[in-house]
Amino acid sequence: MNLFFLKAKLVFITFSVCISFDVDCKWTKHSFEVMGTQSNIEFEVLDAKMAPNTLQRVIDEMHRIDALMSPFKSTSELSKINRLASTHPVHISNELYDLLVKSAEFSKLTQGAFDISFSSVGYLYNYRTSVRPTEKQIENLKRNINYRSVQLNKDNQTVKFVQPLVKIDLGGIAKGYAVDQCIQILKDSGVVNAYVSAGGDSRIIGKKDDRLWYIGIKHPRDKNKLLVNLPLEEVSISTSGDYERFFVKDGVRYHHIIDPKTGDSARELQSVTILAPSSTTADALSTSVFVLGLDKGLKLINGLSDISAILVDSQGRLHYSDDIARLK
Ligand code: ADP
Ligand code: MG
Repeated sequence: MNLFFLKAKLVFITFSVCISFDVDCKWTKHSFEVMGTQSNIEFEVLDAKMAPNTLQRVIDEMHRIDALMSPFKSTSELSKINRLASTHPVHISNELYDLLVKSAEFSKLTQGAFDISFSSVGYLYNYRTSVRPTEKQIENLKRNINYRSVQLNKDNQTVKFVQPLVKIDLGGIAKGYAVDQCIQILKDSGVVNAYVSAGGDSRIIGKKDDRLWYIGIKHPRDKNKLLVNLPLEEVSISTSGDYERFFVKDGVRYHHIIDPKTGDSARELQSVTILAPSSTTADALSTSVFVLGLDKGLKLINGLSDISAILVDSQGRLHYSDDIARLK
């Protein structure tokens, strides 16, 4: 087959994709609401006939994970755990079990800064209605924040809470996990160049029209500004900030990243961006470093290979992990 014919055929196919999607011909782009945030999918179309199906599978995967792990949906497997695991061991799916194991690994790595049982107190905050727990509630419930209270039994694939008032929430890791799952679906479908995000968690593979991808990090105190715009390749990037879900009461900012030691919002930093090979890791570590604060956070990241960090302290000053600082 001569090259011209092949090219003509490709043009025809990509044109037909253009009709059904918001695409600039070679690219399929789609944004939608899931997990209480916006997800963006963008991938280069190699096989136009397959593109709608591939996109739908990615969208379905995001919704499937939301339905499985949402703490707000009473039918989710996570809600079932929260209802029953204080009274008896609850048998759970492979997938959720594996993510609970991974969460426990991040708890150990971060000496408890990452702790899904933060929700034992955390569930009493409502950032939309500016509601927070009283000092007394925090004092009474704080002892339930302890990842060691979430007992996992590998042989029976069960989870059991050893304290009666433990609650868990995967909000610090589930979106990253969902992004990894979606990238895997795209790769399995033959996609080479793609961008997938869910809220502050993104992952890119390949290139954007033969150039690097540019991913912006939001300015933590000015919605209309970017702090930096990074040229990137084959990486996951996750930002945790105190500006996404918060309210201010009596001059104090209450936001959605909770220090397990206090049951209150962590306040040493304004934002943490992590670059890592997988989105699950980037997500869990951005939440963790936010809790750990400047010194302990940078020390953790500098001790890990393949992980980089960009931090904004409470005064708005930028700090970098050693590998990035060396480039500057
Ligand atoms: P976002 O959810 O905006 O992407 P993060 O990745 O930083 O931001 O995750 C924040 C979420 O992590 C919170 O909404 C909550 O569900 C969960 N979380 C809060 N504090 C902790 C903690 N100490 N350990 C683990 N998860 C946490
Ligand atoms: Mg996170």
